[in-house]
Amino acid sequence: MKAVAVTPKQANTVRLEEMDKPKTSDIKNGRGVLVEVLRVGACGTDREINNGEYGVAPEGFEFLVLGHENFGRVAEVGENVKEFAVGDFVVATVRRPGKSFYDRIGEQDFTTDKDYFERGISRLHGYMAEFYAESADFLVKIPPAIREIAVLLEPLSIIEKGLKQASDIQERLKIWRPKTAAVLGTGSVGLLTAMALRLRGYEVRGFGKDKRDGYLNADLLEEIGVSYDSTMETSVADSTRKYGEYDLIFECTGYSPIIFDAMQSLNENGVLILASVTGGERKTDAVPSDLINQKFVLGNRAMFGTVNANREHFELGVKDLALCEAMFAGWLSKMMTHKIEGLENYAQAFDILNNAGKYNAIKAYFEVKKI
Ligand code: BGC
Repeated sequence: MKAVAVTPKQANTVRLEEMDKPKTSDIKNGRGVLVEVLRVGACGTDREINNGEYGVAPEGFEFLVLGHENFGRVAEVGENVKEFAVGDFVVATVRRPGKSFYDRIGEQDFTTDKDYFERGISRLHGYMAEFYAESADFLVKIPPAIREIAVLLEPLSIIEKGLKQASDIQERLKIWRPKTAAVLGTGSVGLLTAMALRLRGYEVRGFGKDKRDGYLNADLLEEIGVSYDSTMETSVADSTRKYGEYDLIFECTGYSPIIFDAMQSLNENGVLILASVTGGERKTDAVPSDLINQKFVLGNRAMFGTVNANREHFELGVKDLALCEAMFAGWLSKMMTHKIEGLENYAQAFDILNNAGKYNAIKAYFEVKKI
């Protein structure tokens, strides 16, 4: 079968590899599920891996099959799989257990291992292939009604984890009734975050670099009642004069200096969620450290980082995708701007990832096989 792969730590090596088709018996204890891949999303992490900045090949391989944003159909099940049947739609989670205590209790998204295992990213082949085999334990069933947009579940799961942790952390307050939120970054993760917050009833402000005029992402935000400001015109900190300080801020720009701006824009008792994996070496000076520190101390503010997602976050994401379709019918499909037909057109996918602005691209994805 065909798969899209790279040689990690070398720039621009993306190519097709021919591989053996996996089998349910590749997975222990009769728990194997063979999944026919229907769609795979392409994202900034795939771009970074192909740039040679991130990613590790599985042991014994010099290449890594890419792809972690997945959606497929069950083709075969092992003898001890009762929860899935042939024909079911599924999405697989990304991280697999390593050695730490958290991994052993099924909370591998909180691993303390330095070397972690993520399909399509780190030490395990991904889903940019015609088939994959996986244990039923790591698959999430997808209701047929959301099949057209289910490839958005993996990026949404990251947001669900962030929001779940925010509400867990805010249990430090006996009552927390957040009303306002700012979302920094208006790429696909930013749009999904704004959507998830709108479903929870927040008044949401979106911030991106692009000018408002002709920016499709801002049109989509406004369609679900989210305002858009370009940080070229209004910084997040300045925006608080217009909108007030925010109860919750979700950062997903990929531009680390903005976090200091965000730290100054939080309400008393507010919470700031950091979700960008910034692989570069950028440094920032002129940070108003006294002010930020004082605001955090005197206002009981909180900030935390979040990565990856566990099954429960995927399950929350399934519910939000369905609710979003009910509230904003058709909106999620509009995010899926660029369909690439067939894995063999991988060069097109990476061209779009590298020039998202030129193509007005929000989410590019492979249609590996028609649904
Ligand atoms: C993926 C996560 C992963 C993270 C760090 C993201 O693109 O969505 O599942 O944990 O990269 O590797």
